Parts: sequence; C-alpha cells; structure tokens
Amino acid sequence: SVMREERIKKTKTVCTYCGVGCSYDVWTKDRKILKISPLHGDTNQISTCVKGKFGWDFVNSKDRLQTPLIREGAGFREATWEEALSLVTTKLGSIKQQYGPDALSVIISSKATNEDGYLMQKFARAVVGTNNIDNCSRYCQSPATMGLFRTVGYGGDSGSIENIAKSGLVLIVGSNTADSHPVLATRVKRAHKLFGQRLIVADPREHEMARRADIHFRPRPGTDLVWISAMSRYMLDNGHAKQEFLDQWVNGLDEYRKSLEPFTMEYAARICEVPLETLEQVAEEIAAARSVAVLWAMGITQHMRASDGSTAISNLLLITGNYMRDEGGAYPLRGHNNVQGAGDIGAAPIYYPGYQPVTDAANRKKFEDAWGVSLPPQRGMDNHQMVDAIYEGKLRAMYVAGEDMISADSNANHVAGAFEKLDFFVVQDIFFTETCRYADVILPASPALEKDGTFSSTERRIQRLYQALPELGDSRADWKITQDIANRMGANWNYQHPSEIMAEMASLTPLYAGVSYERLEGYKTLQWPVAPDGTDQPVLYLNGFPFPDNKARLYPLDFREPDEQPDADFDLFLNNGRMLEHFHEGNMTARVPGIHEETPERYIEISEELAKERNIESGRWVRVTSRHGSLVIKTLVTSRVFGYQVYLPLLSQEGPINILTGSHSDPATNTPAYKETAVRIKLLPEQ
Ligand code: SF4
Repeated sequence: SVMREERIKKTKTVCTYCGVGCSYDVWTKDRKILKISPLHGDTNQISTCVKGKFGWDFVNSKDRLQTPLIREGAGFREATWEEALSLVTTKLGSIKQQYGPDALSVIISSKATNEDGYLMQKFARAVVGTNNIDNCSRYCQSPATMGLFRTVGYGGDSGSIENIAKSGLVLIVGSNTADSHPVLATRVKRAHKLFGQRLIVADPREHEMARRADIHFRPRPGTDLVWISAMSRYMLDNGHAKQEFLDQWVNGLDEYRKSLEPFTMEYAARICEVPLETLEQVAEEIAAARSVAVLWAMGITQHMRASDGSTAISNLLLITGNYMRDEGGAYPLRGHNNVQGAGDIGAAPIYYPGYQPVTDAANRKKFEDAWGVSLPPQRGMDNHQMVDAIYEGKLRAMYVAGEDMISADSNANHVAGAFEKLDFFVVQDIFFTETCRYADVILPASPALEKDGTFSSTERRIQRLYQALPELGDSRADWKITQDIANRMGANWNYQHPSEIMAEMASLTPLYAGVSYERLEGYKTLQWPVAPDGTDQPVLYLNGFPFPDNKARLYPLDFREPDEQPDADFDLFLNNGRMLEHFHEGNMTARVPGIHEETPERYIEISEELAKERNIESGRWVRVTSRHGSLVIKTLVTSRVFGYQVYLPLLSQEGPINILTGSHSDPATNTPAYKETAVRIKLLPEQ
C-alpha cells in the first residue's frame, strides 16, 4: 500500500568505516535498515565491502548510549541534558578560571563529520582559548602528512583511486590494503590481473596483496627508510632519475644526493635483511615502470621514524618523476572515514582549518576578526602530550568526543593512569567505551546515519551524508552538543544546520574556498583544493607545488634503529593491525550480530617455525608480555607471519591490546610506534 511504501525511505550516505569513501543509498523502514544499494558513488560505483554492506546494525544496538550519564559513587546515573550540561560547563568554567585555558583540552574523532570537527576546534580556540585540540589521526596518519608537507606541500593523496588504477606499477608498503581498504584494493587487483599493472609489496606479513604481488619482500620492521632511500640512490647512480623534471621542478638535489651516500644496495640488504637480488629486482622494476604509485599506511606510520619513512617515499617519487601527472604518485591510505577531513578542518594543535599555522600572526588575525575573540598565539598539545601533561599536573580537564583513547592510544595502562588523575573528564560517544569508565560525565552522541554533514575521504574527496534515521533516544549530533556547551560558556552561536558551519569554514579556508552544500548535493563531490568558482583538483600539482617558488623539495634523511628492540627477555617482535570483518577495536563492528558471529574471538598469529620450535599448536592459550603490560590470548599458527614475528588483530572486546605497546613515538609527530614492540609468549597449561 501507499502507506507501507511511504514508510520505506531511501537516503544517500557515505560509509562510516574506512577512508576509501564509498557512498550509497541506505533503505530504511522506521529504524530498520533494509538494504544498502551502491550505484552512483564516484569512488565505488556498484561496490562495497562487507563492512559497508552489512556493518550498520550497530546503530540499533541495545548498547547505544541514549541519555547523559553522571558519575555517582562507583558507577553512573542517568541525567537530563540540562543537568549534565550545566555540570560540564560549570566545571570546565571553574577549571579554566583557576588554572587558565591551557589546563583544558579537547579531542574530536576522525569518525565525526567535518562540521562536528570544525565546531570542536572553534570551541577549543574561541571559547576555551587554547590550541589544545587534536584528533585520532595522531595515532595513524600524521607522519604521512608530515612527509608530504616536507617535500610536496599538500597533506593528502596526490591523485585519485582512478589514478592508482592507471599506474604502471603499484608499490604497497606497510598496508594490508585488501583487509583495510577493500574497495580500493579491488581496483588494484583488477588492474594487476587484467591490465598488466605490476604489483610489489613490502610487508613483514604475507597478507592477500602480498600473495598476489609480482614481488613480495619482508624488510625488518622499522627499516623501510633504508631500502627506499637505497632505491633513490640506485636511480640517481644508474641514470634512471627524471633529470629534466628534477631540474625544472625540484630543489635540493645536491644536498639530497650527498645524504644518500650510506644508502647503497648492499647496506640496505644488510640492514633490512632482504636479499640483495630482490632489492635489485625491485629497483629495476621501478626504473622500468611507466609510472609508480606508492600506497602506504600504518606499516610505515606507526614507527619511531614514521615521518622520515613517509618522507623517503615522497623523495623517491620526486627522483622518479611521479608527481605532476595523472598516474603514479603518493597515496597514504587514510584509515577512518574522515581522517583526511579531521586534519583539514583544523582539529590539530598547530593548524587552523586548511593547515594554516596558528603561530602565524596573519592567520590568527583572520580568525580573530571572523570569530570576534582574541586567540592564543602558541601551539597547543597533541593527544600524546596531553597524557604526559596530566601526569605533570598541567592538564586538568578534557572533553573527548568519539575517541576511545584507552583502546586506541598506545600504552593503555599509562593512559588509564592519567585519566584517573584528571579533575574533570567529559566523554561524548555512541557506546560506553573503555574510556567512558574514567569519565565524570558521558554525553550520548549520534552516529553517521543519524546526522547531516560531510566526510572527506583519502582521495581528498568531500562528500555529503544525509540523515537517514532520527537521533536515538536522547542522543544528539556532536555539533549540536558542542554548540550547546559553547553557548553555556558565553559564546553566541546560532548554527541551525551543518551547511552553515561549512559555509563559515569555506570562507576562512582557502583549500575549501569553493565548497558549499549546493555543490555537494546528492552524489556530487569535490576534491580539494576547491577554488572559489567550484573548480576542484582530482590530481594535485599539475601546475607546480604549493611553495613560494612553485618547486618541490628533496628532504635529506639519515637512519637510526628503533628504540624498542627484542632482547633475551623479550625475544619476539609484535605487529598489529586490522581484520577485514572488523573495524579497528571493534566498538562498532563487534555490535553487528552477523559480523560478530563470523569472527567472535581474537587471537595472536604465530609462525609455523615458532610453533614448531616452542611446540605450540593453534587454539592454545598463551600469556603475551611486553615491557609495558601483559594479556592472555589464543594462538593461531599461520604462514602469514614469519620467524620471530607475531601479529595481533586490533580487536579489543576482551580488553585493549594496547596494554602491550609502549609510549615511544615518532619525534616529528608524536605518533606512537605501535608496530615496534618486543614481547615474549608463555604457553599456559591446557584447560
Ligand atoms: Fe566502507 Fe571502506 Fe568498505 Fe568502502 S571499502 S564500504 S568505505 S569500509
């Protein structure tokens, strides 16, 4: 009947999981999700992966937070919004008055919309008066952005997924692309299988892309900078560098060439523990390729020298002339749906929206004039520094939206100890996460399907999502909560709809200058930078690099060993990462019944060699101990890992795996070196 049809609603949305940015229609009847139909997305057309297609039922989970909660004794009690917000604003206000604005800090999730994030950084800067604002790309992608800033100028993929597919050679370094960015991986698999694209994978673990590759090699963890720099030297020494391109478009060749002196192929083979012939083969493939696209992710960025590793990749792309063209290029694969956007909108301690440094007086004046307040001139703390500042007594209160820091940050015990010391802690989320345990007030937020806004994908593609479901219970969109808190602390904001937030951001942010909801209607998208007339840039740098002289810069590097090394007590090397079926720690996917039943338990992968040596079978319980903590888990003996390397999926339903990881981090960005952890394992008696 007509009545029945009317209750069925079709809404365009953007996937809430990974940074590929698939978009599709979601069909709903009341709160029931009937189906997902991909058809029009610029990125994915008719494809989605298992998470995009079946991963939505968490929005109706009985675990959703539906009302504000206030700490009472050892637990929490339900509260009204009025009660919760007046407590939040009184407490934040008095801590600010007593200790100054820098005693407060704010974090916004890179799962939230651009508009949620923009308001959160405006709240920190204009209402609290601090640059202590960050987002969780600190845990993953900041080093990639740093590497690109140093060399080519924009912190984003240099082209689109389409340009990866067109490339002659795809080099994947430290990315489990098939599990983590499935729809993008499909494009590479297709180009490789049908169109003769070459595929090389550098990864300690033999995941699906590694098995498909023409060459797969396994550099010793933490040494990628060495073999990548050796490739650059090989190109220069053997006449494979793109000399004309370098002469016209690149600064710093002489100094860079000098810095490459130690990086011979023999040195790389020794340090990285890769056969010399393999490295020479890889070099010859790179030299012969029509174009090279490098895809990288946390296998590079979660290391001590993560920014340098990313810089080495960009250097190599410059030497081989793989910028300024519509194939090849640099593709750091953004993890969350809005990692790119969270950086773009200025949820960072050093940048206003659009990567405009807060320390620059002209930028500051522009934002002061627009917002009608004076703004702090010094940079703020990133989320790594925030944890230490709590121990030092400098940071007293935090407002964290959508970020399960206990599960996501490294060294979970250290983070938990800090949260216990906070004077006041506000957590805003859709579920009661590990981090919520430490909160004084918990505010119920709404997930993507319940809000309007935009996400920016790994391709710098800005896309519109529309509200498909009403907000559940008393939960609210993040931007509405932030606006309410800001107004109770003296602001006078009156945003009625996220489109008004985007309009303000566009007016202050050259990268997003021409972005408007009109230009993003339905399936229309824009890839930044967007000129005021709405012209966007699917491929960056076609007319030069965003530096004063239009030229890119080669950036000299040296190599140091990772701080944390295996020794006699901790004799194994622990790696970690995602699983196809689950997203990160599983806060959302573990609450999707179909997915949870498929992969209900977590496990540690150990190699066949190690299993044999220690007499361990699959399915046995072991205690895994690092220098930072310890947990008990079942084993899975597999040919995916080798030798003394073990691998943990990130799934954290039975407690955070980051109990094991330490606080050591990349000095340039403070991104934790999650993938450099020494452990030992002990077989537990059979039960
Ligand atoms: Fe969502 Fe990523 Fe899967 Fe696309 S590839 S459906 S964006 S999780």
